Amino acid sequence: MKLYNTLSRTKEDFVPIKANKVGMYSCGPTVYNYAHIGNLRTYIFMDLIRRAFEYEGYKVKSVMNITDVGHLLSDADDGEDKMAKASREQKKTPYEIAAYYTEVFFRDLEKLNIARPNLTPKATEHIPEMIAFVEGLLEKGYAYEIEDGIYFDIAKFPEYGKLSRADVEEQIAGARVEVNTGKRHPADFAVWKHAPKEHIMQWQSPWGMGYPGWHIECSAMSKKYLGETFDIHSGGVDHIPIHHENEIAQSQALTGKIPANYWMHGEFMLVNGGKMSKKLGNTYTVAQLEEMGYSPMVFRYFCLNAHYRKKLNFTFEGLDGAKVSYERLLAAVYQHKVGAAQADEGRLAEFKAQFAAAIDDDLNLPLALGILWTLVKEPKSKAVYSLIMEMDSVFGLSLDKAEAPEAEAEEYPEEVKALAEERYQARKAKNFALADELRGKIAALGYEVKDTAAGWELSKK
Ligand code: AMP
Ligand code: ZN
Repeated sequence: MKLYNTLSRTKEDFVPIKANKVGMYSCGPTVYNYAHIGNLRTYIFMDLIRRAFEYEGYKVKSVMNITDVGHLLSDADDGEDKMAKASREQKKTPYEIAAYYTEVFFRDLEKLNIARPNLTPKATEHIPEMIAFVEGLLEKGYAYEIEDGIYFDIAKFPEYGKLSRADVEEQIAGARVEVNTGKRHPADFAVWKHAPKEHIMQWQSPWGMGYPGWHIECSAMSKKYLGETFDIHSGGVDHIPIHHENEIAQSQALTGKIPANYWMHGEFMLVNGGKMSKKLGNTYTVAQLEEMGYSPMVFRYFCLNAHYRKKLNFTFEGLDGAKVSYERLLAAVYQHKVGAAQADEGRLAEFKAQFAAAIDDDLNLPLALGILWTLVKEPKSKAVYSLIMEMDSVFGLSLDKAEAPEAEAEEYPEEVKALAEERYQARKAKNFALADELRGKIAALGYEVKDTAAGWELSKK
């Protein structure tokens, strides 16, 4: 299996740390709001990694954090904590906010056939691990304390920037003028913040009351559940320059090892070619798409049409196209479910090999979908159906739900049709009293009659 590793900027052969096993950490949601379809594209991408490994026979242990504290409004360690802000605005405790949005998040995952990670640890339940991590960094001289908190000293970690390959000095020169916070270097980042009295979430620590930095959460929890070095770390591309850079710096500073061997990043979803943002009113939730008549599987199908390292432009025309294709695919799959043709085993083996090659080439799902479409054109057979089901263990498109096309227009009892016709004649003769009486008789039999240009139309009540 070849995977694109952001760290080396190349596709590398995947070599597991332990034979046939994969340890995988994915950066999860900050549970202060509903996930939008862009966020969900990223979680679908993470799900595809896991499914691909499982298809290849690996046993996957996947961990995804639930951030319920410490994620500030800006990545530059300032602004309010996102949880605290939501709590203030919605007049609920941060724990109520977190419980509610975590539940919605899990429901979204389920709707989208995203397997729930084996472990979904919450930041607030791992404060001691984070404190221990910060103590370790202080002991080793990688962190220092100033007025508002404890900061990682990037000058002590010369490799800082190796993931994003950003020239840190250049980045800083281009950035806005920093307020003098007392940091030794503008790119130094908070691992622990001192909490002012009014700060709603705070914990006792060796440095007084405070709360953790966002980045330390992932380092502490991945270390706890997957060890000092694990196989895969995934996230959205926006995590490359700060969040993952910082995770690498603090973990490697503490343990001497880079925390993950392969760093995988999913590209962003755009809307109408531009940024997705609440301000522009172009963020949608799964529930909103459902209200508009698009099933979660249609959205998942839409996402699978683009490689995870390519930007994906969301438009309703595109989604409509996905809907038509997905429905056609289901209809075609059903034909195989009930098909009786003899399958050509040699050809099926070829399809299977092509499919595996597509998946193994850095998760080329669009190519794999193309192979599926060619496969469904084969003579209709149960052998093809079971191969489709095997492939769907990676796609996760619920193709086993393919059902018989809906029955043809319903037949109505002669008696009811005769009453409807009689009523039509009565209306034409302007005998409305009789027409109403006949409507009543039709209703009593369990049907409803409507007037149409052609005369009448029946439906079951
Ligand atoms: P956030 O709630 O901003 O922490 O984002 C949650 C996840 O969604 C992160 O993994 C981000 O990388 C990802 N994400 C945010 N915006 C988008 C987008 N427009 N397209 C794809 N992924 C996104
Ligand atoms: Zn993270």
